[in-house]
Amino acid sequence: GALLTIDDVHVRYGDLVALRDVSLTVAQGEVVCVIGPNGAGKSTLLAAVAGGVTPWRGSIRFGDTEVVGLRPEVVARQGLSLVPEGRHIFGTLTVDENLRIGGFIHKGRADAKADYERLLELFPRLRERLNFPAGRLSGGEQQMLAVARAVMTRPRLLLVDEPSLGLAPRIVDQIYEILLDLRQREGLTLVINEQSSNRILKHADRIYVLRGGRIQLEGRAADLADGE
Ligand code: ADP
Ligand code: ADP
Repeated sequence: GALLTIDDVHVRYGDLVALRDVSLTVAQGEVVCVIGPNGAGKSTLLAAVAGGVTPWRGSIRFGDTEVVGLRPEVVARQGLSLVPEGRHIFGTLTVDENLRIGGFIHKGRADAKADYERLLELFPRLRERLNFPAGRLSGGEQQMLAVARAVMTRPRLLLVDEPSLGLAPRIVDQIYEILLDLRQREGLTLVINEQSSNRILKHADRIYVLRGGRIQLEGRAADLADGE
């Protein structure tokens, strides 16, 4: 069944309609990419799912829970994690400190050690740089760290906003490979925003094209790749 069901969602910022008639489903274990130009409403869509923005119409169900009207912390506790655009890390803290904070904020200390060791296995590049100040990592490594922090608490659904922005293709592929590895190992479900479909088609199961706040196209990534 669907892990995420977005039904006829509208979002407004004052007079500006950022999303209209948006309906979308994501199955358990699926990798779905939302593609659209700057201003299309992609970030707004993820924010609405994560509880950061409240639609004025429509429904968003995560599992059995209606999330419209719930606060972000409450949605997060249901097993949802968001990696916002722009590498949200603490630049003056080390990689190690960034990871520990990610775990401790959301959980008690009991599970934190096992979660931490799992992360070092998933992100070998970060393991080699544990004592680096995070602000001195490369852009790609900072993005990896932001993703690592978000998956530390083992979410069921991970939302990632434009992970490839400003990064070299090679490191983008490495980040995607880690995300797909998490799907493979743990059944993580993924919704990823990107501006361009160039690199995402080979990683995603399905794609939605968003433009001007509306879904313009939905399809299996493999079919869309064939057509290019
Ligand atoms: P994308 O992520 O695809 O670039 P956004 O969701 O960030 O699109 O933005 C969609 C539209 O909503 C844009 O026109 C943007 O300027 C506007 N917008 C986004 N956030 C806000 C906000 N907090 N207040 C007012 N307008 C906003
Ligand atoms: P056009 O063909 O002129 O780009 P469309 O209406 O076909 O116009 O496309 C609308 C949106 O869908 C555009 O943003 C376009 O880049 C995107 N799009 C079209 N084809 C694909 C595809 N195969 N994969 C991903 N996005 C696509």
